[in-house]
Amino acid sequence: MAESIPAVKVAHPPLVAVKGMNDILPPDSARWDWFEDTVRGLMRRYGYLGIRTPIVEPTPLFVRGLGQVTDIVEKEMYSFTDSMNGDALTLRPEGTAGVVRAAVEHSMLYDGGKRLFYIGPMFRHERPQRGRYRQFHQVGVEALGFAGPDVDAEVILMCRALWRELGLADVRLELNCLGRSDERQAHRAALIAHFEAHRERLDAEAQARLYSNPLRILDTKNPALQLMVESAPRLLDYLGDASLRHFEALRAVLDAAGQPYRVNHRLVRGMDYYGLTVFEWVTDRLGAQGTVCGGGRYDGLAELVGGKPAPGIGWGMGIERVLDLVVQSGVQPPPPRPDVYAVVPAPAALPAAMTVAEALRAAGVAVLMHAAGKDAWGSMKSQFKKADASGARTALIFGADELARGEVALKPLRDAAAVQTTRPIADVAAWVHELRNA
Ligand code: ATP
Ligand code: MG
Repeated sequence: MAESIPAVKVAHPPLVAVKGMNDILPPDSARWDWFEDTVRGLMRRYGYLGIRTPIVEPTPLFVRGLGQVTDIVEKEMYSFTDSMNGDALTLRPEGTAGVVRAAVEHSMLYDGGKRLFYIGPMFRHERPQRGRYRQFHQVGVEALGFAGPDVDAEVILMCRALWRELGLADVRLELNCLGRSDERQAHRAALIAHFEAHRERLDAEAQARLYSNPLRILDTKNPALQLMVESAPRLLDYLGDASLRHFEALRAVLDAAGQPYRVNHRLVRGMDYYGLTVFEWVTDRLGAQGTVCGGGRYDGLAELVGGKPAPGIGWGMGIERVLDLVVQSGVQPPPPRPDVYAVVPAPAALPAAMTVAEALRAAGVAVLMHAAGKDAWGSMKSQFKKADASGARTALIFGADELARGEVALKPLRDAAAVQTTRPIADVAAWVHELRNA
């Protein structure tokens, strides 16, 4: 057998990423970093604290929390059995259920409400296309323990603040009120009667949901059903006083804040846990996947995952879609560039250069060190070329003569008229301000 193996080296077939799951590489990763920095700054100003929950959760968390008759639970979950102990596990398809589970498990609400946010990957087994991936990323907020419409307004307005900070203009707000579950029940009966009257025109999915979850038929993406859905009974007409007051109070804040919105009677959202306020931020610039953020109130979810009743509201934002919109809108995040490029003419200068670079970085200066190639140190010409390409405003040149005098040469790179001067390396603090925020 061994003789039959050819002497030539057989290459392994190339390994590639799982379909629908993407690598995020430089330079694109800089846009992600900028986005996440912007989000974290925003969260700080609104008083939202970070929470990190596991990517893998017990499958029943989502089946119970999201609802059996939902796109996610019916067909999009990456569920598997732990081969070690037989546990039913699922890669999280969304963030809310896990955050509420954690809040209940750790009694986080015993001393009042909590404002939380997360950023991370989510997994859904969908057909990959623009704006729809199998691993995608969300930033989300969950305000737990607050029952009032003021917090509904807060989480919505923080999205607007984010659009503004990102430089995005073309995002519209759609709003609806799903009321309480008894109000939805009354509406549900009317809805079933309406769809039963058109039964033969329903598609297979709508047929299947007619009695299990008729509200979700309103959510259909099938154009053939649009007219029937438009003429369906409106949930808003079934709402009681308390629900209507909640909705009115939210609208009053949005109106006062100058935030336009459209009341969309068909907006029901994908998960069963929503009640009262639901909303989406949508754009026309991303084709079919135009919803960049969706959220709402889920006052029943804590109980569904086995906790005491606790109100909650939040949203989830698709980072891939938002960043696609950033690109479509021509927004250019500030390119990541070092303040200083360290030119090191010869290897002997490296210890001194590294020491100065460390001191500068400790003082807040971004320093990109020259790094030698595999076979060659790198000529001065090639080092200056790299210094220019890096975008740094200043080069520090660690020449042997200067070092012998305890100095380093400083050369402005963006100002052709500027001359090269020297600075003492023992006293970085005296001149570091010249390099910062350049
Ligand atoms: P859609 O109707 O587009 O399937 P959804 O209602 O399933 O969206 P949510 O569960 O509300 O979406 O998730 C919140 C946000 O996460 C969406 O508005 C979208 O921006 C993003 N998102 C959802 N699914 C994906 C996906 N498969 N790939 C990329 N982003 C996604
Ligand atoms: Mg979906």
